Amino acid sequence: MAMSIPCYASFGTKLQDPLNYSNYNGVEKVKSIIKKTVIPSVGSSPVESLQKGNWVKLICGASFEDLVDIRNLSLVYTLAGVDCIDCAAEASVVNAVNEGIEAARALVPIRRPWVMISVNDDEDLHFRKAEFDPDDCPRDCMRPCEKVCPANAILQKGGVLAERCYGCGRCLAVCPYDKIRAITYVRDVIATAELLERDDVDALEIHTSGREPSVFRELWTGLGNSTANLKLVAVSFPDLRGSTISAMNAMYSIMESSIHCINLWQLDGRPMSGDIGRGATRDAIAFARKLASAGDKPKGFLQLAGGTNIHTVEGLKKERLFQTTTIHEPSRYETIPSTLHSPNALIAGVAFGGYARKIVGRVLSSVQSHHGLARVEDFPEQLLQAIIESLALVGTVKCYNIQKQII
Ligand code: SF4
Ligand code: SF4
Repeated sequence: MAMSIPCYASFGTKLQDPLNYSNYNGVEKVKSIIKKTVIPSVGSSPVESLQKGNWVKLICGASFEDLVDIRNLSLVYTLAGVDCIDCAAEASVVNAVNEGIEAARALVPIRRPWVMISVNDDEDLHFRKAEFDPDDCPRDCMRPCEKVCPANAILQKGGVLAERCYGCGRCLAVCPYDKIRAITYVRDVIATAELLERDDVDALEIHTSGREPSVFRELWTGLGNSTANLKLVAVSFPDLRGSTISAMNAMYSIMESSIHCINLWQLDGRPMSGDIGRGATRDAIAFARKLASAGDKPKGFLQLAGGTNIHTVEGLKKERLFQTTTIHEPSRYETIPSTLHSPNALIAGVAFGGYARKIVGRVLSSVQSHHGLARVEDFPEQLLQAIIESLALVGTVKCYNIQKQII
């Protein structure tokens, strides 16, 4: 049966007519789209993307551990040209990401995105799982928890599927009987250090509240030399209002003497909410506006996250923050080869999490519901659908024009 979905070209413009996928030989069409649209548009390295302001990171989720989805998401977004894939600091998850990347590169010889693992220095919303005992629930409960879960992590008539839960907390808020608990955890430092020494892990992200320099120091010190070969260290933190800049400076001073690569500040606007709607991205944009104009911040690229979605670039443009360059600061990125010392974008890029997973997840779950655990590339029609969805999102930052390639 022919499948059709609305197509969004660059900048999210809705086209008049939906595409009819039965017209295409899926895999060949995918290869052609990627070769014509993505490969000429992505820079030769993720560092260049950071400098130009068109860096895109896929957030698989610091707690999301569904290996089949992670592998397929990594494949799709590698083909869509992301610069980095951020995942849970678990060996099996890292393997799944790398498997997806290599499967994508076997289809089309595209640049390998960096693989980033995310850890926390203390309790953090991104590092928790919901849990409840379904036998303890009143029989007449309408199960709003199941309906509200964006990850399909709550089984019909059952409890939480731990590997799919990424801790968004929406089920906690809707349970009328207060039956759901949030189990928080902190990633183990020794296991993280071992992962960082793998050749297929390129970057680290530390999630922190920014309020406790002592726990940040403890984690950073505990990681020791394992960060020596990284390409990027990111710190993800919320807007701390009046103390944001002093917190950034405190964290940077802890890392400064032992950081051997570029660094990035992930501005976590409204955590894990990009799939909710247009307004979810406002906090991240407001955070970016504030930091872009702050003069006394420590060095490091700035990247948005938390509530980011298809409307984020539009918001950045309104604020004149999209791919706007800074004044040349030759000393700012001294770890970057001198040939790359050119004006840097004020905002280096955008990370997409829940929204990115939702638009491609719709396709992946249709594959899984019909075929069980499956490799998305074995289903060309669905692969093409997933690619078009991902290009529409990544293309807002990378400025792809996919319209003429597809029609
Ligand atoms: S709603 Fe969020 S916290 Fe609850 S089970 Fe689903 S993903 Fe986990
Ligand atoms: S909403 Fe609460 S009581 Fe109802 S099924 Fe979900 S966890 Fe159980």
